[in-house]
Parts: sequence; structure tokens; C-alpha cells
Amino acid sequence: MTRLDCTVTGCMYNKEKCCCKDNIQVEGDHAKHSRDTCCSSFREQKEGMSNCVNYPTKDTDVACKATDCTFNENCHCQAKHIGIAGGNACECQETECATFRCKCD
Ligand code: SF4
Repeated sequence: MTRLDCTVTGCMYNKEKCCCKDNIQVEGDHAKHSRDTCCSSFREQKEGMSNCVNYPTKDTDVACKATDCTFNENCHCQAKHIGIAGGNACECQETECATFRCKCD
């Protein structure tokens, strides 16, 4: 399990910069930089929509396709703590895993 901080406040699962989901999916086949990754669990918070009612979960199961990341093991994130970034994102491509570290570095 990974401790997850998330600055994507435009997401319906975000509460106080934490994620209310207990699992997320990070994309990034062939990613070499953070900007090549994104959180596909992102759902835009539309006007009039009520925010997520759950309490934010700090420990999150992170499935991840960025297999070139140092923290990736069998498509799961093994980092103790990650940050997902993308403050004003309207779609998942505008988010990224800021903790990504390429095995090639
Ligand atoms: S740190 Fe690496 S393995 Fe973990 S979610 Fe981010 S990109 Fe995926």
C-alpha cells in the first residue's frame, strides 16, 4: 500500500488534497518522464455535483502501467509515498505521477 497525496482538486475523489478512493490506476506505458504518466481514475468534479462523501484514504493500492519506473513491480507501485499532481486538470491526461523515476536515469 502506498501513501497518496494528490493535488488534483478538480477531481471528484479529492478531499483536502487526499484521495477518497482506496485504489487508483496510473497509466504510462513506455513513460520516460512524469509528464508521460497520468491517473486514469480521475473524474472531473462537475458543477452541482456533490463531492465524494467518503473519508480520504491515506493508504492506496496503486496499479500502475509505468513499468519503466523504479518503483514499479509487476504493474503495482511499491513506493511508500507518492504524489499525483495536476491542480486544475479537467481530464486525466492533465494529471501526472510526480514521483515517477525512470529506471533509465
Ligand atoms: S511512483 Fe512510479 S510506479 Fe509508483 S505510481 Fe508513480 S509512476 Fe507508477
